[in-house]
Amino acid sequence: MKDTISLDCHAHVKPTRTSEELAPAGAVLAMTLSLDEAAAVVDRREPLVAWGVGCHPRGVEAQAAFDVGRFEELAEWAPIVGEVGVDVRWSRVPLDLQLRTFRAVLSFAARASRPVSIHSFTATRIVLDGLRQTPVAAPILHWWTGNAAETREAVAMGCYFSVHSAVARRSTFRTAVPPERILVESDHGWDDPPAAIPCRVEWVEHLLSVQLKCSQEEVRALAWRNFTTIVRETGIGPLLPPGIESALPAASDSTSEWRLF
Ligand SMILES: [Zn+2]
Repeated sequence: MKDTISLDCHAHVKPTRTSEELAPAGAVLAMTLSLDEAAAVVDRREPLVAWGVGCHPRGVEAQAAFDVGRFEELAEWAPIVGEVGVDVRWSRVPLDLQLRTFRAVLSFAARASRPVSIHSFTATRIVLDGLRQTPVAAPILHWWTGNAAETREAVAMGCYFSVHSAVARRSTFRTAVPPERILVESDHGWDDPPAAIPCRVEWVEHLLSVQLKCSQEEVRALAWRNFTTIVRETGIGPLLPPGIESALPAASDSTSEWRLF
């Protein structure tokens, strides 16, 4: 396992972190919470950190300040859109404003073919309806709490699931999600040291390995293969930082069957 670098498909990293602080974090898809935060990282060039452009559904100021033109300008050069989505339980942002932002973001992602890391906590039905209305090439559901029927529906719609420790134990990921749709994430906190990310990823890999009855190494390889499929499906390869691009398994590896299922 030490040979393959860890892949975290959804983490938060404070833009003031230096490249040296980010170096031990492994490969990371770093989500931003607002367009201001995305603007602060747009010129960064860490070899293993792919920065997303997002607007968090709980961000009162971020949602009020969301401007679709500015978003598209920032997202044009970003390999991934996130964190975006809908939250009905904990967000103080009016639902109609959350939906307006979410629809604008999905419509860009559909046109520009970008994977989207989607906060779906407590809003599983709304998120699925949004994706049905505006299908995108690679929707990645973050904080997925849907029931079995919704989960199967999401799978049929082509969704991926990025799993962190709070959701990894749910049997949904064993019973309703095919392994080729699973990604691993830390949802690492903005203030937390980036060097801790690989440990958090390993813990999720361990939890998933129990669910999937395979080794931790196989979970890591699976996550890389699945991310490689997303890269191929969306064509974002040229937008990825060089370290992530070169860590992608070769096409022949990535298409090989998940032998345990
Ligand atoms: Zn997050």
